[in-house]
Amino acid sequence: MGRHTPRALFPAASASDSRPTVGVLALQGDVREHVLALEAAGARAVAVRAAADLVGPQGARVDGLVLPGGESTTVGRLLAAFDMLAPLRAVVRDGLPVYGSCAGMILLADRVAGAASGQPLIGGIDMTVRRNAFGRQVDSYEEELVAPALGAPADRPLRGVFIRAPWVEHVGACVEVLATTRSGRAGAEEAGSGGRIVAVRQGPLLATSFHPEVGSDHRVHDVFVEMVTRRS
Ligand code: GLN
Repeated sequence: MGRHTPRALFPAASASDSRPTVGVLALQGDVREHVLALEAAGARAVAVRAAADLVGPQGARVDGLVLPGGESTTVGRLLAAFDMLAPLRAVVRDGLPVYGSCAGMILLADRVAGAASGQPLIGGIDMTVRRNAFGRQVDSYEEELVAPALGAPADRPLRGVFIRAPWVEHVGACVEVLATTRSGRAGAEEAGSGGRIVAVRQGPLLATSFHPEVGSDHRVHDVFVEMVTRRS
């Protein structure tokens, strides 16, 4: 390759690269931001655009997978059209670490309230997620979240950016709640958005309603890459 070859968004692996490989589902949504956050957290990010990017003859081709935000109905339909739902469900069943943010959280839910009719899901986390719970397009908002399990203790909260975000209405016994919105916040009670579950983990599956990939704080990606490293 010549000196003038531009740096690819997904650089090729080199044999000496000991970083874990994390796929980013790259059909729609904020793929680039997750790639940058994963690389900052010490992983090698690769695009997953087809089932063959995810699984090969030897099983999963990635050590972990990120499902970015976007539009869960669109992504679900693309996954169905590209025959990716069954392989994704299989890697989830086999215990691959997967992190879903926003639309990705919806895709990982076993149950969705407000789903579009026939909306395809991957499933895996025993929870009920309500789509567009915080409001639609214009109703995006931000809140400082305390989430020690995500590296955000009370004196160093995490900026949660919610964009047409879902919240979690119900979790099963195996699901850990990692973050909730604050109750008692001005207006939150009337808006119904106080004390809502916005980050969960069930075994190797992590999901957040918010978008930690925007901005330069990659603590959530650090936690996910750590989950990936522990398993690989
Ligand atoms: N409301 C979107 C959905 O239902 C999710 C929004 C997002 O990912 N920012 O898919």
